[in-house]
Amino acid sequence: MEYLPLFVRMQGKKALLIGNNETLTRKHTLLKSAGMEIYLVGDAPCQELIELIDSGVIKKTADTYSENLLDNISIVVCSNEDSAIAQRVSNDAMARELPVNIVNNTELSSFIFPSVIDRSPIVAAVSSGGQIPVMTRILRNLVESTLPFAYGRLAQLSSSFRAKVNAQYPAINQRRRFWEKHLAGYFAELVFSGKDKEAEAYLEDVIGKESMSETGEVYLVGAGPGDPDLLTFRALRLIRQADVVVYDRLVSTPILELARQDAEKIHVGKERSNHTLPQEKINQLLVRLAKEGKRVVRLKGGDPFIFGRGGEEIEELAASEVPFQVVPGITAASGCSSYSGIPLTHRDYSQSVRFITGHLKDGSCDLPWQEFVTKGQTLVFYMGLTGLDVICSQLISCGMDRSTPLALISKGTTPEQKVLTTTVEDATEAVKSVELKAPTLIIIGEVVRLREKLRWFD
Ligand code: SAH
Repeated sequence: MEYLPLFVRMQGKKALLIGNNETLTRKHTLLKSAGMEIYLVGDAPCQELIELIDSGVIKKTADTYSENLLDNISIVVCSNEDSAIAQRVSNDAMARELPVNIVNNTELSSFIFPSVIDRSPIVAAVSSGGQIPVMTRILRNLVESTLPFAYGRLAQLSSSFRAKVNAQYPAINQRRRFWEKHLAGYFAELVFSGKDKEAEAYLEDVIGKESMSETGEVYLVGAGPGDPDLLTFRALRLIRQADVVVYDRLVSTPILELARQDAEKIHVGKERSNHTLPQEKINQLLVRLAKEGKRVVRLKGGDPFIFGRGGEEIEELAASEVPFQVVPGITAASGCSSYSGIPLTHRDYSQSVRFITGHLKDGSCDLPWQEFVTKGQTLVFYMGLTGLDVICSQLISCGMDRSTPLALISKGTTPEQKVLTTTVEDATEAVKSVELKAPTLIIIGEVVRLREKLRWFD
């Protein structure tokens, strides 16, 4: 950060404006709304400034600048077009360690004005460090349009209940939960619709009646196959508010970066046969963190309930009476199929789809192979790359046509996605010629041909 963002109390302090153009009237509005007294130095002021002087809002002190005019001043803003004067003002103010802004000149300024969204007491300030003001304005408009006007009133009303809430809910976790619930719930809705009296009565009524648990909560969140745009809104909201994020190898970095900067991030990654933390320990970790009052997001690649061992984790949470939620995610089969142009079903080629684990136990997959060899069915193997040879030979020995198309999709939906199309017969040889990185998904069936028909290019 090139500038330190601060909110400084300036009530009753003096600001000096130097210049005569309307830029100063805009600056004056902000300084005035922060409660400052405003003085002007400049000859032939523009019409807007004259009106402000006539109405007593701005006091004119001199026609020309001299250093002694900086005495007792707390902030200086200069829009003088004469660069020699701007340079002098900057030098003099900096020598006095006085905050100075020379309009449109970051070199000579010690501070810059941000774009402000004022919902006092809530104030948001946006800045591009003076580098690209248009972007600052766009961002400001974005924030402006998503912050209801009544936010200021909501903050004021809520703060008048703070002492009461603190007394009723002595533990910080309880208090936080109380406010999170009501600032996003019915109380806030009443304020937004202008029913302040009803809102007050409602809050008065619920304080103390609602028991706020000190135990945290665990959210088992499906993070999808990699592309952060594939997260659900609910996943995003929970990731943003989590105190702790427990994640594994499949969760992509851009998704992790959505968590709060101060959130603790615990990697419990599970490489094949190299479990960083055994499942049992992960289950216990989730329970312990929640009992400490934390809101824990357990991020799972894809969908937590599809080969994600989500069921085991919530069993332990339920047994320990820890509240939890499960948020579905886009499973690898859906993500990879869309991003590689291979529909999983198709009226002409496939009427059903089967998700299968290709994870080998002691070198073989104990699976009902015969059931897989049937017309009109797409097979999707998760965790199947290492066992590809076994998978293909089992299918062929159960009667699958050797020329059945097969696709391998590695790192699906990410910028590094790679797709290899081959056949059940040639797959083992074909993977030797390309480098496929984990995670890789295998799709087998006539639908694979559609990729070419759809002229899909990655
Ligand atoms: N719960 C996850 C699956 C976990 S099992 C889900 O619903 O997607 C791990 C397997 O998922 C990997 O071995 C691989 O086969 C598949 N997989 C997950 N993400 C993938 C991706 N981005 N590209 C290809 N395959 C992926």
